[in-house]
Order: sequence, then C-alpha cells, then structure tokens
Amino acid sequence: MREVKLFPTTTGQSWLELSAYKNHAFLPGSEIRDAYDYIVVGAGYGGQAAARRLAELHPDARIAVFEAIRIGDNDSGKNAGFIIDVPHDFGDQGASSFEENKKYFELNTFIIKWMEDTIKAKGIEDVDWDHCGKYLCCAETKSFKLIDHEIDELKRMNCSYEVVEGEELYRRTGTRYYKKALYTSGTVLINPADVLRGLFSVMPENVEVFEECPVMRIDEGSPTSVILRNGKRAKCKAVIVTAGPFIPQFGIGSKVFCPVLSYGAFTRRFTEEEMQHMRGVKPWGCTAGHPAGTTVRFTRDNRIFVRNGFSFATHLTTSHQRIQRAIPKLRRAYENRFPELRHVNFEFVYGGMINMTMNYRPLMLQHHPSVFASACGEGAGVAKTSLLGYYVAEWVSGIPSDNLDFLRRISTPKRLPPEPFLTVGAEARLFYEEFNAKKEI
Ligand SMILES: Cc1cc2nc3c(=O)[nH]c(=O)nc-3n(C[C@H](O)[C@H](O)[C@H](O)COP(=O)(O)OP(=O)(O)OC[C@H]3O[C@@H](n4cnc5c(N)ncnc54)[C@H](O)[C@@H]3O)c2cc1C
Repeated sequence: MREVKLFPTTTGQSWLELSAYKNHAFLPGSEIRDAYDYIVVGAGYGGQAAARRLAELHPDARIAVFEAIRIGDNDSGKNAGFIIDVPHDFGDQGASSFEENKKYFELNTFIIKWMEDTIKAKGIEDVDWDHCGKYLCCAETKSFKLIDHEIDELKRMNCSYEVVEGEELYRRTGTRYYKKALYTSGTVLINPADVLRGLFSVMPENVEVFEECPVMRIDEGSPTSVILRNGKRAKCKAVIVTAGPFIPQFGIGSKVFCPVLSYGAFTRRFTEEEMQHMRGVKPWGCTAGHPAGTTVRFTRDNRIFVRNGFSFATHLTTSHQRIQRAIPKLRRAYENRFPELRHVNFEFVYGGMINMTMNYRPLMLQHHPSVFASACGEGAGVAKTSLLGYYVAEWVSGIPSDNLDFLRRISTPKRLPPEPFLTVGAEARLFYEEFNAKKEI
C-alpha cells in the first residue's frame, strides 16, 4: 500500500488541557512487539471502539493501537463533546429515510450505553460524562421549521421531547438570545478528550496502546505488516484503519472525504461574582437552528464553550493563522449570547476537522482480506464512528448481524468531484451555508 504523505498535527489547546487523564502514560515505543493478532491504526473514538470490541471477542489475542499524536489532541478529543442519540440535522441527511434514522437512533442509544457501561465497569466515573440531554436552540423564527421537522420524527419514533421557550428557556440557559428550543434527554455531554483518554487508559490487558507512533505504511500480505515512522515493523493477522480523514493517505477509500475545519473556544472559568449571571443554571449544551450555526455549552466547570466557522480543510490541517481568523466570529457568538459577561476572555481556542463525505454517508470497507477501514462522514461523529468501530471489529471477527449489514449497506460515500471543482464547490457551499445561518451563528 502507499506510503503516508500527510500526518496529523496538533494546533491549538483544547479539552485535553482540562482532563485529569492528560498525563496518563501509555506504553513507550520501545515496547512495540514484532507481532500482534490485530492492529488498530488511529486512537479516536472509532479506534477506541474497534480495539475494545476486538478485545472482548478475542480475550486471548494480542492487540495494538497506534496513534500518530497524543490521544485526546486529535479530532475525537477536539469536538464539542455531544454524543447525540437522536437524528441530528448536520449529518443525518445521509440517513435519508425515516427507517434509517430510526435504526440510527436505536444503534446510537446502544453504543452510548456500551460506553457508559464500560466507564462504570472500569471505575472511571470521574471522567467528564454528563447524561444531561441537549437543546436544539433557535434564535430566529424562520429556524422553527427545523424544530417542527425534528418533532415529527421524534413523535414517529416514540421518543419524548420538550419544547422550551421564554422565561423558562432563560432560566435553564442563562441567555435571552434564543426564542425557542427543543429538548431531548438522550444526548450525553462530555469533555471528549477526557473520556477518550480515560477509556484508552482502561483498555483490557491484551490491548497495548502507543501514542505519538505514526503509522507510515501497511504492507498487505500473509502476514500483513504495519510499518511505523519510528522504523519498527509489526506483523498481524488483520489491521483496522480508523484514521478518520487520513484513511486515504494509506490508499484506502480515496476521493470520498471532504473534511471541513471548524473552531472551538472556551472562556476561562467564571468567578463567583460572574456566576451570579448563571444563578441556578445547570450544565447544558445546544446545537443551532441552522447547520452552520453556533454550538454552545455551559460546562461543568463554569465556562462557556462555543463552536462555529467552517472552511475547507486543504492539506488536512488547520493553522495558527486560520485559528486567529476564526476568533472574531467565535467572540461575536459568545458576546451576543452573554452580553453581561462579554469582558470574559477566551482561555483556549482551537481548530479541528469534521470528517464529511459529500452525501454524509460513512465509509466501512474491506480493502484487502486483512485490511479493514471505517470512518463516519458527518458532524455527529462520536456516536457514529464508535458504532462503526464496534461493528468493523465484528466484521473482522466473522460475526454476522443485521446491524453490521445495515452499516455496510449505508456505507456508500459519494465520490468527490475532481479539483479545482472540489475546492471551489466546497468553499462556495460553506460560504452559502454560513451566509444563511444569520443569527444562528
Ligand atoms: C470543532 C469540532 C466539533 C465537533 N463536534 C462534535 C460533536 O459535538 N459531536 C460529535 O458527535 N461529533 C463532533 N465532531 C466530529 C467528531 O469529532 C468526529 O466525527 C470524530 O472525531 C471522528 O472520530 P474518528 O475516530 O473516526 O476519527 P478521528 O477523531 O479523526 O481519529 C482518527 C485518529 O487517527 C489518527 N491518525 C491519522 N493518521 C494516522 C497515522 N498515519 N498513524 C497513526 N494514527 C493516525 C489521528 O491522529 C486521529 O487521532 C466535531 C468535530 C470538530 C472538528
């Protein structure tokens, strides 16, 4: 297979800085063995689920996970921290029929429970995991149609919900910015780096985790080998590549990912005096009434987190300059919502990649008898990519199921147009979406 040209990098500090697991020591590169049964490339939520499921299915097998950068400094650790159970507009357009959305809801609920059960069983309840649900908040009347659309789907799924408006919405969120919100209770809000690192720190004993160990090439064959950038080589029976937007670097699933950069920022912690403005407000999170709108959270440690801005991720990376340019929009979103707290500065600002495909469909494939890959193709990726990781491990192990069939059936990412149409088209579309998002940003 081809040699990787672009490797992940880290730009901007984020949730990892707030994680109690930040300094957890994984295995040093000197302990990499010559051979494993299974190797997982990439330690995001997809890699976490794949490695753990393989270990559950094969307690006697040796499994290695190789991550290019620090676990939690990747996109899985840099998202907004919503593990969403219900259909989510910025992403679920791919699951086009109601039946597909319903199936996703069932599968998302399953995978959230699996993660939560693991957290409890492994005694890491100290991770920042809050089963507090989510709001879909609208600042403009024209966005109410999104709430109406979701209510229709939720009713058909027999899923409970609540519409919150006026003083009650202010009482719950501490902002008068929004006109109306739809609340559903199944979403979990997390510090994504904390939960990811926490989960990797309690992998079963037969899983060996190596961070800052980029994989340079996979040589398929019998046996298949993984060649690391540090010069080591490890043989194995099968490899699962869960490297997100970097999967095509290995020559797998080329021309389907169209990753989009988005930016997040946290205020510093509010002081006791500042907290008077948030009196009685519990931690909460909302997605916006437009796909290009601002995601907002009030965190457990009394900060406001905002995420917005989209740009096409040329060269699979962001930069300090792009992050600088994203700040005014992030500031505006924050100050518009919390004018009384506008003096509070941002402590961390960062950028990350949302791994999109043109039709929001995931990728799940067998590239070679011993090489598999999976990645989601949309914004609500934590639950989806965990699901794909879980079931790709079952696929590798030869375990058939209706759920695996469903995921394989919908894994039909559309092929990207050639350059320069791709970049021009992607940038024009993102500009158009942002322009239309108006006050939802
Ligand atoms: C700002 C932002 C906000 C978001 N908010 C949300 C949200 O609230 N909820 C939600 O569900 N989703 C959200 N997402 C999307 C979510 O983060 C992704 O869908 C998710 O991270 C995908 O996980 P993954 O494991 O498939 O891929 P990744 O998280 O990209 O993990 C792939 C891993 O592979 C590693 N890798 C790549 N190449 C190599 C190599 N050669 N060798 C070894 N390792 C390699 C990478 O370093 C990375 O750690 C957001 C994304 C961004 C950027």
